[in-house]
Amino acid sequence: MSGSTVYDVAIVGYGPAGVVAAGLLGQKGLKVYVCERLLDVYQIPRAAALDHEIMRVFQQLGVVDAVAPFTEPFTNSEFFGVDGQLIRRMTMVAPPYPQGYTPSLVFTQPQVERILRERVARLPNVDVELGVEMTRVTPDAGGVTLDIVHPQRGAGQVRAKYVIACDGGSSTVRTQLGMQLEDLDFDEPWLVVDVLVNERGLAKLPKVSVQYCEPERPCTLVICPKNHRRFEISLKEGEDPKQVATPEATWKLLSRWLTPEDGELWRQASYRFHALVASDWRQGRVFLAGDAAHMQPPFLGQGMCQGIRDVTNLAWKLAAVLRGEVTGAAAQALLDSYGAERKAHVRELTRSGQGARARREVAGRLRRRRQGHAAPGHPAAAGDRPALRRSERRARQSVPAAVAAARRHAAAHGRRRRPRLAAGAGARHRRSGRDLAGAARAATRRTAGGSRRRGRSVVAPARMRRRAGASGPLRVWRGVHARRDAFPHR
Ligand SMILES: Cc1cc2nc3c(=O)[nH]c(=O)nc-3n(C[C@H](O)[C@H](O)[C@H](O)COP(=O)(O)OP(=O)(O)OC[C@H]3O[C@@H](n4cnc5c(N)ncnc54)[C@H](O)[C@@H]3O)c2cc1C
Repeated sequence: MSGSTVYDVAIVGYGPAGVVAAGLLGQKGLKVYVCERLLDVYQIPRAAALDHEIMRVFQQLGVVDAVAPFTEPFTNSEFFGVDGQLIRRMTMVAPPYPQGYTPSLVFTQPQVERILRERVARLPNVDVELGVEMTRVTPDAGGVTLDIVHPQRGAGQVRAKYVIACDGGSSTVRTQLGMQLEDLDFDEPWLVVDVLVNERGLAKLPKVSVQYCEPERPCTLVICPKNHRRFEISLKEGEDPKQVATPEATWKLLSRWLTPEDGELWRQASYRFHALVASDWRQGRVFLAGDAAHMQPPFLGQGMCQGIRDVTNLAWKLAAVLRGEVTGAAAQALLDSYGAERKAHVRELTRSGQGARARREVAGRLRRRRQGHAAPGHPAAAGDRPALRRSERRARQSVPAAVAAARRHAAAHGRRRRPRLAAGAGARHRRSGRDLAGAARAATRRTAGGSRRRGRSVVAPARMRRRAGASGPLRVWRGVHARRDAFPHR
């Protein structure tokens, strides 16, 4: 691909972010180059969930019908506390769907990536080189030069007006350009296990996705398409991430649900779930996108979705500038808005994902304390006030902090009645058209739930107990009525 061609955009990395970038830019008629180290899509799914916004991007690319057989609606989720009681049930939104697609879906990543690549292959203005490595990125005032090493042809160069680094978490582009990452204060080892479960195993497993909010080992079960089930299991201090990923050790960890007769391990791998975001998303003519720009724990199933949102945000801006529709200072401001918009959204979403998890842990710890349980490694006794971890404290602080930021913003812009909340913060409130006071009230209520109400049960009135047919005291968990013996799979 070297020679006299100057591409409009060169994309390093052909994972989900790279392939969507190539498709969107290619559809706009731009001359695009893509290089990818691997020869084929990564065969094992990492992402398991996506959302309706991503389906709309797939619609834009014309692949929704092709992708549909490899997706299924996300099931309801149940959250169980330390003693197996249901503490929360999350149900899926009923139709009509606000964006036209099921809001939350599970999917099979390798097949979906293959469909996206087939789409790009039909665009004659996009050149894709697989099995080659980008070894050096050299930006200058007029463009960017990439050094590309081909296993047979050897070294060559590619020249482009702009480069998008979609080269994953250990991005060579980001490293070579010295672009820094900010730590979002989450760093934990987890084991992720994908099991192809047979009939016997399926009969044993819950029919909905489950969060086991057990402070000593929080874990998650996700119902993926067909007979694919994903377990995410937190590792305890001192556990060797390599050792727990051996088949024997993995089956041992799965033994509360399944035995080797119930299915086959598709993959098991230990991950360090780390929350990071790039300080700057643009350096001149080079942009970071996808995991190259941010990483987050998969609790909200949003890492890949965020990368697809990144390139969707960037593609139309680059096209407008490259076609000369926006010029001069306005063009620079438009390109700068990419990082400003995406970074704020990624930070907020990552924080809310951490918050959800931390609040689950807090709930479990408070409840265990009240009931006088002492779990290994968590020697809480009735009457003790459990010390919160740093991430838990932050989770409880994040909502008031967002509201305080919105207030500051409102004061600075002299709009007291219906100020715009900072991007990402309080987006729900913005959408629903509530004013700041409403957002603040809702946030305060949520915070109170996180610190006091959540995790507290009350004995229901006799009228409610009679209606539920409960013999003993019926407990009310944030509106969910649960009898302790009602959940046999826990
Ligand atoms: C266990 C787990 C569960 C997850 N679950 C979800 C989920 O449910 N939903 C969700 O949305 N996200 C999820 N994610 C996150 C998601 O998998 C990632 O965010 C996504 O794959 C990142 O896509 P990407 O294109 O940015 O990077 P990658 O997929 O990492 O692709 C980068 C590509 O660049 C190539 N490359 C790198 N360097 C070079 C080079 N120098 N030259 C040429 N090529 C290069 C690599 O070979 C690779 O193919 C999960 C992640 C994990 C680990």
